[in-house]
Amino acid sequence: MLGNDGEALPTAAKEIPPELQGLRMTKQRREVYSVLLHNRDHPTANEVFGRVQADMPSISLATVYNCLDALVDHGLINRVNFDREPSRFCVNLTPHVHFQDKKSGVIHDLSFKDGCQITDVLDLPNGTEVSELELTIRGFLPKGS
Ligand SMILES: [Zn+2]
Repeated sequence: MLGNDGEALPTAAKEIPPELQGLRMTKQRREVYSVLLHNRDHPTANEVFGRVQADMPSISLATVYNCLDALVDHGLINRVNFDREPSRFCVNLTPHVHFQDKKSGVIHDLSFKDGCQITDVLDLPNGTEVSELELTIRGFLPKGS
């Protein structure tokens, strides 16, 4: 149930095509996207910046912000907001909710059980169309998970 694997997405920078959903993947965008693919812990822009700098020391924070904006605008990643914290970025595009472990602070992606959708568990008027889903559950994971 807790999973960050996202089988359908490319997993390494070398697998990212030169253009994704109409967005030209510049070296910087590719690196930012790759960082998000490799560690799906919903990092902030500053955390992405720190990780990208390991391979690209000359990149600026402004460039990282621009790359993240371009990736969000083209629907390749989602910007997610938790409380009043800085925005975080999520590469998982399948419908999911977030679970924040209160002990570690780590944010996990939770997928729906097979065949279940958000409209099945909420008392919405008939015919309601859900266009966006942003739901965070907080709690404690069982020991050893
Ligand atoms: Zn997520």
